[in-house]
Amino acid sequence: MNINTKILHDYPVIDPVTGSSSIPKYQTSTFHQKNVFTHTGFSYTRFGNPTVEAAEKCIASLENAQFSLAFSSGMAAINAVLFLLSKGDHLVLGKNIYGGTFQSIHLFLARFGIDCTFVDETDIDSWQKAIKKETKMFYIETPSNPLLTITDIKKVTELANEYQILTVADNTFMTPISQHPLDLGVDIVIHSATKFINGHSDVVAGLVATNNEELYQQLKEHQKALGGILGPEDAWLLLLGVKTLGLRMEKSVRNASELANFLVNHPKVTNVYYPGLEQHAGHSIHQKQCEDCGAILSFEVDSVKQIETLFTHCRVPIVAVSLGGVESILSYPWAMSHASMPEKDRLAMGVTETLVRLSCGIEDVEDLIADLDDALNAM
Ligand SMILES: *Cc1c(COP(=O)(O)O)cnc(C)c1O
Repeated sequence: MNINTKILHDYPVIDPVTGSSSIPKYQTSTFHQKNVFTHTGFSYTRFGNPTVEAAEKCIASLENAQFSLAFSSGMAAINAVLFLLSKGDHLVLGKNIYGGTFQSIHLFLARFGIDCTFVDETDIDSWQKAIKKETKMFYIETPSNPLLTITDIKKVTELANEYQILTVADNTFMTPISQHPLDLGVDIVIHSATKFINGHSDVVAGLVATNNEELYQQLKEHQKALGGILGPEDAWLLLLGVKTLGLRMEKSVRNASELANFLVNHPKVTNVYYPGLEQHAGHSIHQKQCEDCGAILSFEVDSVKQIETLFTHCRVPIVAVSLGGVESILSYPWAMSHASMPEKDRLAMGVTETLVRLSCGIEDVEDLIADLDDALNAM
């Protein structure tokens, strides 16, 4: 089955009890047991819920995985995975990492005696050099946020396999429409389903998928014990949103590509980061491991004084934290997604005070271009 058919048919999409063509919202915390020693497969919603299970089976299908789990947020999913590490273990990750992941590592892992090394994710030698005998996990995010640097997934997983290191990939930016980390040798794939998968800026959710049963059993225990489960209402909204993922991505990616070309040629823009541009350093690696170039780009303007003018003059995109909605979202990583990072770390990864990130929605591209052009010229 191809992906757009899978999105509509390859997981529970019909309620087995009534035949309802929309999986009902099983808005319940618990399930009556006719016999005290048995249950229907569901006993308590923190341990499992039919609406949530449908969302889990959906991401398993889309990521070509046997096992999957849903969480209350992308961060809950990431933390459940990071909890696979124990005292004395060593974690290697790219220096261009999602701000929340960076914060979690500094808040918890250091205190729990887990050592971390940040590497240049675009350079395979950098991953190799970071390996110690305690290294247990490689953590990949490609394209990265917000600079869209590219990590060669296959090269990193091959290196990890040589040393029996687990690999984890945050696949939020590409979605399962165009990048399949498990097929490239990654052990665990994570999504902030808040973004493109749900796609309507109305749910916060996280998903995890794997083909390793032992890892799944451990993560299932983490889901139960840490308690960051997805609620039935949000799972239901996610199931509604995901049905148009393929269509939405097609339009958003096309818009991003046209906007990138427009911005590259704009005199007020000093730099554009988009993996679809031939001059992007990771362009060929990205082409090799993905089916399209994604719907997110970032760009730089000349001075910090222009930032406020730019944001206040944009009328089409919403100005907000987050990405992956049907509406375009313009954000300012310096003060939004990466604000929790110390200034020197932000600058080291290239998150400057003049960097702007645009998540392209499904609007008519002429309107997006005209709007950005006005705002840029107002600076
Ligand atoms: C948003 C995001 C997260 C965190 O997800 P939440 O749903 O906000 O908890 C993690 N990784 C990436 C790449 C993201 O964009």
